[in-house]
Amino acid sequence: MKRLQLNNVNKIYKNGVHSIKSLNLDIEDREFIVIVGPSGCGKTTLLRMIAGLEEVTSGDLYISGIRANNIEPNKRDIAMVFQNCALYPHMTVYENLAFGLKMKKEKPSKIEEKVMAASHILDIEELLQRKPDQISGGQRQRVALGRAIVREPQVFLMDEPLSSLDAKLRVQMRAEIIKLHKRLNATFVYVTHDQTEAMTMGSRIIVMRDGLIQQNDTPRNIYNDPSNIFVASFIGSPQINLVEAKVVEDKSEIKLIFKEGMLFLHKEQQKILKDKEYVGKSIVLGVRAENVSFEIPPVEMKPLTGCVEFTELLGSETLVYINTQVGSVVGKMPADYDIEVGKYVKIYFNSSNVNLFDKETELRII
Ligand code: ADP
Ligand code: MG
Repeated sequence: MKRLQLNNVNKIYKNGVHSIKSLNLDIEDREFIVIVGPSGCGKTTLLRMIAGLEEVTSGDLYISGIRANNIEPNKRDIAMVFQNCALYPHMTVYENLAFGLKMKKEKPSKIEEKVMAASHILDIEELLQRKPDQISGGQRQRVALGRAIVREPQVFLMDEPLSSLDAKLRVQMRAEIIKLHKRLNATFVYVTHDQTEAMTMGSRIIVMRDGLIQQNDTPRNIYNDPSNIFVASFIGSPQINLVEAKVVEDKSEIKLIFKEGMLFLHKEQQKILKDKEYVGKSIVLGVRAENVSFEIPPVEMKPLTGCVEFTELLGSETLVYINTQVGSVVGKMPADYDIEVGKYVKIYFNSSNVNLFDKETELRII
């Protein structure tokens, strides 16, 4: 049983960089949690504190209910897989896997048993006698995972373990790590700056920025109900469209007016905007590319218009970028969607799938 709790944890490096700010996080036993955020937001710092490689400046870290701030790294039952999984070049794969156990003075028979079990799980039994420069990048990554597995930890901390692999291998290794989690029955904390990895791997995602948690939620909620503009823009490809709009009340009907065009709202949306006193103010509307439409006009909108700037065929779909008076808007269309650059189009949103954000605080209103 391994549950990780961080209460009000701060990390201030000696040079004064405050890289983790009053962070609260509870990770359940055997959970697969993904921490995502741009480079420099504090992901590695956070993992290193959990592993015991970095001191916690203030706050409490609990491992299985016991305060662990001062527990030695090797007594935490936690293994960390690092970003650049440097293997020992002069050792075989077998020796690389066995190294940590040898250092811990495990019995040779025990070492062999553990190395063989880990290489079976990772399907690298054929490679055991090779040196790291005689295997592929994906295989090296597996060996790096193997070095963590042989320690049989209850918690795996993974710091962008796939970032050095090419796209195809990344997809494959992603699936393997998910399978590994199911097999090992351990807690996984997986760090990445890649929003696709975050969306596809974890049952829960923590989005971080500048040492602060922005949202802690399921992938679905993070995508559909981002807590603020940062999360909305960071998650999802292409980036969510953000359009400034003014909230107006006209004959007791509340609607959104753009520089050009207008969107009618559902009764509940109107009530929230009214109750929170947004009438007369500007807000930011967020709409994902798949919810932009050019043709079927839902009755509740006077469209924006714009000129097709360029298109991107992505195989199964086409992204259409349109230059409008309110900035660039991107729509996701079927692959065979036929539209010419330079053509004028009408752009419709559906009020059922838009997010509305406060322009000042950038927090989601609806
Ligand atoms: P991430 O892994 O999300 O890219 P890091 O945890 O590596 O971010 O870094 C978070 C912040 O802390 C950055 O501003 C970084 O420059 C700073 N930082 C990281 N390690 C140190 C260190 N050893 N000394 C001082 N500042 C550091
Ligand atoms: Mg990092």
